[in-house]
Amino acid sequence: MRLKNVPGSREAVAASAFAITDPESHKGSWRREIFKNTAPIHIEVGMGKGRFIMELAALHPEVNYVGIEKYSSVLIRAIEKAEENPLPNIRFIRMDAEDIEQVFDKDEVDRIYLNFSDPWPKDRHAKRRLTSGRFLDRFSNILAAGGIIEFKTDNRDLFDYSLETAPEAGWRILASTYDLHADPVMREGNVMTEYEEKFTAAGNPICKYVITVDTANKDKE
Ligand code: SAM
Repeated sequence: MRLKNVPGSREAVAASAFAITDPESHKGSWRREIFKNTAPIHIEVGMGKGRFIMELAALHPEVNYVGIEKYSSVLIRAIEKAEENPLPNIRFIRMDAEDIEQVFDKDEVDRIYLNFSDPWPKDRHAKRRLTSGRFLDRFSNILAAGGIIEFKTDNRDLFDYSLETAPEAGWRILASTYDLHADPVMREGNVMTEYEEKFTAAGNPICKYVITVDTANKDKE
């Protein structure tokens, strides 16, 4: 993604009460220290400007949401929206998801959303894809039993790669579609992301899968 630098965004993000600037220090105690409740935690990795996760947070006050984004120039847009419409059940972290296990403990997260993740089309960059085996291993280390990943993309090559990679990494595909908006079951309750809106308007079908850690397979290892 081409990024426009937004001067002062790093400082503005750090100054917001919605941004958690010391996320490692809350590992294992997000519910108690940050949200002060016992509700489930759902995270979006690579959330961009945050429209999707903020809409979910408004719809589901019974869930705690954490949005993760690598760049403050993008994250600042989510922070601005959160400051305008404050919700108690949302926080943001500026970080590279590579370090996710330093921020959330084993079993601490109940659901992970990956939306229109960067495709990294070159083979030599495959391990940077958020649906690669390397990332799925990290995600399985923070997801509670029965936790799921929901992944959407319009990139068919990335989707085919992800469908192939998940079972190899010990995950079970619970549902998948090559055309989310035409699927009467999977489209129910769908919340659009910024990229989803753009690609749908351009006529691209949206692919989606839902996966869970295959505990039967894991136990055999
Ligand atoms: N999810 C949003 C949507 O669907 O509208 C944004 C999609 S955008 C193509 C991908 C976003 O993921 C970018 O903002 C990028 O900075 C972020 N991202 C990519 N790799 C990341 C990583 N390893 N850790 C955190 N954020 C990442």
